[in-house]
Amino acid sequence: MPEGHTIHRAARDHRRALSGQKLSVISPQGKFSEGASLLDLQFCETVEAIGKHLLYRFQNNRALHIHLGLFGRVRKQPLPLKPPKGAVHVRLASKTHFVDINGPSVCEVLDQSGVDALFHRIGPDVLRADANPDISFQKIQRSTLPIGQLIMDQSIMAGIGNIYRTEILWRQAIHPEIPGKAISRHAFDCIWTDAAYLLAIGVKRNAIVTVDAQLSSKKRSGERYNIFGTVSCPKCNGDVRHLEINKRRAFVCDTCQPLPNRIS
Ligand SMILES: [Zn+2]
Repeated sequence: MPEGHTIHRAARDHRRALSGQKLSVISPQGKFSEGASLLDLQFCETVEAIGKHLLYRFQNNRALHIHLGLFGRVRKQPLPLKPPKGAVHVRLASKTHFVDINGPSVCEVLDQSGVDALFHRIGPDVLRADANPDISFQKIQRSTLPIGQLIMDQSIMAGIGNIYRTEILWRQAIHPEIPGKAISRHAFDCIWTDAAYLLAIGVKRNAIVTVDAQLSSKKRSGERYNIFGTVSCPKCNGDVRHLEINKRRAFVCDTCQPLPNRIS
């Protein structure tokens, strides 16, 4: 499952390649022919991301809504058009580029009320300028579930995936098992700000970067994490504990991220 930065980066790339133009929209595989016909030869206004969802907005007040799920793939290429690779569910083509989408878990045409409902369903997205973090904090404050689970719940706050979850909580010295209602506003603000910062870098570099030395370096290196997938903590050299939160791998340094004795 891609993390939020991947989808925002795709939206940015596709916006540059497709928006402000009339698009040809077809379903080479044939399973989305009816939906494609509603958008074909329409003017694409913009492409945006909210959480892990992509929205291609058209001037006829329709939007193509895509969620890639676990197996979906998007590919943008310059013209000329090439034969579809695999089962291309939908192809969008402008005067300069074409975008192929294979195997999405959601591919549908929404009208404005459908778009509104989608925005209502998804929590504030840390990468969007119009996001209201207060909404996320209110939901977290009302919950007894662990913070490590809440910040990955896309209906609470959108964008954070499994690796960022572990890394942000470690960077902010917050134990992932602290219940939401015990998280202070200050701690929440630290999580939100760090998530917005790291994911924006993720969009720019097309990689998850969470190590301070790499964040400040102009030299681009591959992905490397502080404690995700490791056994010892780079700050205290203590053991990194491996745990599962909502059935996904998580890591914690119990020394740098102490669990308060009394959590109420
Ligand atoms: Zn440590």
